[in-house]
Amino acid sequence: ATQSLGDYKVESTFSFEEIGGQRVAKKELSEALDFMVQSKEAQDLGIRPLKGILLCGPPGTGKTLLAKASATYTNSAFLSCSGSDFIEVYAGVGASRIRNLFNKAREKAKKSGKKGAVIFIDEIDVLGAKRGGNRGHMEYEQTLNALLVEMDGLKSHESIQILIMGATNRPDLLDPALLRPGRFDRQIQVDLPDKEGREHILKIHLRNKPVSDEVDLSILAKETVGFSGAQLESICNEAAILSLRLGEKMISFDQLKESIEKVLLGASGDRKALE
Ligand code: ATP
Repeated sequence: ATQSLGDYKVESTFSFEEIGGQRVAKKELSEALDFMVQSKEAQDLGIRPLKGILLCGPPGTGKTLLAKASATYTNSAFLSCSGSDFIEVYAGVGASRIRNLFNKAREKAKKSGKKGAVIFIDEIDVLGAKRGGNRGHMEYEQTLNALLVEMDGLKSHESIQILIMGATNRPDLLDPALLRPGRFDRQIQVDLPDKEGREHILKIHLRNKPVSDEVDLSILAKETVGFSGAQLESICNEAAILSLRLGEKMISFDQLKESIEKVLLGASGDRKALE
């Protein structure tokens, strides 16, 4: 279910079970989130609230899904945006969008009767890159400062707990101020899936499709070394399209294998276009 709340997308009820592979990331994440869920006990022990988690890894590995599932796990509202949404040529626009985002999150949580909100910022390196340097643009600095101010202002006794989850493939580009304790002080690696992970992801995306009995997912997983979750999803979709075109009712093993090639070619085609 997707509803629109102003400029930001709001979605709900997506769980960790629907994410294939990523065993370590899911475990680390749910352990970190347990602090948020048991906030009363954590507060009594004087543990400072968890404000930011950084998900690091290549595109299409499930970072957005992990953030969504984190919102469900903590019974929080979910808002998602991208670092590039905050980059404007007009001074102050990015900073005011940041403040607006935090207010929207509180508003959304209140409206849906939830105690927390997860704000997901994809491509956080776009807005959180190191200040100064040759980029040296005032607008970026104001936007990043606004984010730091909002994060520092989050208190454990607030009625609505806000957690920021940032995604990046380049944590090394981030301004060190973002990585200081009390900000994004937890980093979780979200890598390309291993063989077992790939099989799991394929299984998830074929779950609601009619698949022929001869299909051996472990062979497909073996033949898709280096594929991301998004590419594996694409294989399943392409195979379904192929069988539809052929007027077949079941997805065959051959159609899935053919789709691996197709997705591979598609990926290299994209790369060519970028050269
Ligand atoms: P980006 O950084 O490019 O936004 P991402 O890491 O956030 O990528 P997602 O948006 O979470 O990736 O994944 C894109 C799509 O790929 C998902 O909607 C899903 O269909 C599929 N996918 C990716 N990873 C997984 C996974 N681990 N399990 C199941 N599906 C996955």
